Amino acid sequence: MIILQNYRVISCTDGFLRIQSKEHSSCSSCGGKLRVRDSRHRRVINAAGEVTFYRLRRFKCQSCARIHTELPDCIVPYKHYAADVIESELIH
Ligand SMILES: [Zn+2]
Repeated sequence: MIILQNYRVISCTDGFLRIQSKEHSSCSSCGGKLRVRDSRHRRVINAAGEVTFYRLRRFKCQSCARIHTELPDCIVPYKHYAADVIESELIH
């Protein structure tokens, strides 16, 4: 996981928020070079209780092949956990 502190949030036309990093990230495990692999969608509930959808980039390390998701520091890990719980309750 890559936690970004210097980034811009951009609204996409399809309603997702995209993170534009201003940092040069490297692999947190080995320091290797990262290449964009794909992206995944993440549902986040903010402090005001509003649901937002993020499209987060996933990187693959060119040296150790680990996958890292780019996460802005405004997403609090506890909050996505809560969002995932709510989502799974809606499905069942
Ligand atoms: Zn690596």
